[in-house]
Amino acid sequence: MDIHEYQAKEILSRFGVAVPQGGLAYSPEQAAYRARDIGGSKWIVKAQIHSGGRGKAGGVKLCSSEHQVEEEADELFGKRLVTHQTGPQGKTVYRVYVEGAVAIKREIYLGLVLDRKSERVMVVASSAGGMEIEEIAQREPNSIIRSVVEPAVGMPAFQAREIAFGLGLEPALTQQAVNTILGCYKAFEELDATMVEINPLVVTEDNRLIALDAKMTFDDNALFRLPHIAELRDKSQEDPRETRANDRGLSYVGLDGSIGCIVNGAGLAMATMDMIKAAGGEPANFLDIGGGATPERVAKAFRLVTSDQNVRAILVNIFAGINRCDWVAEGIVMALQKTPLNMPVVVRLAGTHVEEGRKILARSGLPIIRAGTLAEAASRAVAAWRNDSLTKVAS
Ligand code: ADP
Ligand code: MG
Repeated sequence: MDIHEYQAKEILSRFGVAVPQGGLAYSPEQAAYRARDIGGSKWIVKAQIHSGGRGKAGGVKLCSSEHQVEEEADELFGKRLVTHQTGPQGKTVYRVYVEGAVAIKREIYLGLVLDRKSERVMVVASSAGGMEIEEIAQREPNSIIRSVVEPAVGMPAFQAREIAFGLGLEPALTQQAVNTILGCYKAFEELDATMVEINPLVVTEDNRLIALDAKMTFDDNALFRLPHIAELRDKSQEDPRETRANDRGLSYVGLDGSIGCIVNGAGLAMATMDMIKAAGGEPANFLDIGGGATPERVAKAFRLVTSDQNVRAILVNIFAGINRCDWVAEGIVMALQKTPLNMPVVVRLAGTHVEEGRKILARSGLPIIRAGTLAEAASRAVAAWRNDSLTKVAS
């Protein structure tokens, strides 16, 4: 789960990370009021969307009067910002954050991520802040410091100090840098984060170290035990199709094609999408029913996939281990009997109780296209989708 910049700043500041004074606004008028509250003569108005790269997309504005704050905020509210992370559909601004503008001397990059290779939390830092980490990796690869945290020990202060030295910070700022790095690590660990990023972390003209941007991502599977984090979720920033599925305990990924996929397991989902593409089609989404899915759960999955307007054909591909093909079949029949579909459905079942599953489908009398192998299933789904589109165009 992602959260907004202002939420990440609030969390990190509780862990000792210094941030500029700021306030959230839901209207232009409130933005001006926030600016007055903060004081000073220069402010930054920042669109709160779940994405980086807002600056380049026109979502970060420097203002030198309260009136200008109000105008820029007015401009941002309701606007769809398209960044390199949002996809072409962009994300809509419903909240803006107003901050005192800081005089920047130096910009630094600081990130904490889960490094899958070492199976550890890794601190990534660079003296070349202000650009995205991918860009830093390309342009200034030698500036990147990587430091892996030993989980049994946690992060000792000397490790944070080493990173601070590596960044070439002057001695007066070392302690603040250590506090910032340790604070980020503590927040990461305590709150089951999967990513913490401060970009840029800046040295100000008056020699303070301040986080001007902050981003945090949390492990969805840990949210149940962190209600105060779970409540930071902002559904307006999510793909509504994915939100609907997540709310029902199903994992769903929306894509742009026309074949809806119901599968079990992420690996099988990848393989299924590859096969659809190899057969000349494009997946509209994939929905993972997980293990031990009951007929009710399968029926629910079916309704979710078919509620996606882009879906023109459905491919169910189940390789049952913990799952049971007969339950999956029952779920499909249940869903189709309740709401008949005007699109082809291809089903491939394999594994536990497959014979019972096939019998249930056959006995139902429903127009289900069956397939024995994954390749067969994919080519049948693509062929059925093509035929169906042709007949629909013709009629
Ligand atoms: P994004 O990464 O989404 O583009 P940032 O919060 O990093 O958004 O803002 C973009 C740039 O705007 C920063 O790199 C920084 O140069 C400038 N900026 C952001 N907040 C402030 C601030 N409070 N004072 C001065 N400059 C700021
Ligand atoms: Mg940034």
